[in-house]
Amino acid sequence: MRIILLGAPGAGKGTVAKLLSQIDGSVHISTGDILRAAIKEGTELGMKAKAYMERGDLVPDELVMLMMEDRLRRPDTDKGFILDGFPRTIPQAEALEGLLKRLGKELDFVANLEVEREVIIDRLTTRRTCSNPDCQEIYNVKSNPPLPDGTCRKCGSPTVQREDETEEAIANRLATYQAKTAPLIDYYARKGLLKNYRSVSSAETVEAVKRDLTLRP
Ligand code: AMP
Repeated sequence: MRIILLGAPGAGKGTVAKLLSQIDGSVHISTGDILRAAIKEGTELGMKAKAYMERGDLVPDELVMLMMEDRLRRPDTDKGFILDGFPRTIPQAEALEGLLKRLGKELDFVANLEVEREVIIDRLTTRRTCSNPDCQEIYNVKSNPPLPDGTCRKCGSPTVQREDETEEAIANRLATYQAKTAPLIDYYARKGLLKNYRSVSSAETVEAVKRDLTLRP
């Protein structure tokens, strides 16, 4: 499959993407995960992105596009891809369109995950993420906790609250989403590529996306 997951931070894009990638081996590409790994490794990209991310601001489009061009050219994307957290601005969406044309790849559709603001805030403040850059498993202290000592159930590394999940950074991320990313909903609707999902659980969303994939012309 070749799909984009749209939705506010905390809408469940990461969890849905992981489940979808298990269906047919399409690669889950999360720009947030790539950027966090770059910061951990201290690469040039990581050093440039760090301050933006900690404030909850978007990393400049040019940097994100260089990174995504490189990522989407890798052969593992031939099986398909699920884009999580990208594109996040109209210029990124336009650049992606050009890039996919050059690569001869067409999107199936754009899945927009609609979740209420209160649910999102609750999810983000209770979220914990595995600190191992190769794992980055997502937990929730209420509904899906890590082990009692706070370590990851998958790889045993400590889980942490992300620096951009403080209340101030969350408020900024949601405002940034409204201003910069929400316009993509209309952008893709006008192209006839948008599908909306308003499900209570990630499993339900995945089932609905699967159905839409089989139904597409
Ligand atoms: P996420 O894990 O998707 O919530 O992303 C975490 C942070 O990474 C965001 O708040 C941004 O600072 C940065 N980021 C991730 N994806 C993008 C993108 N497509 N464009 C710009 N910044 C991004």
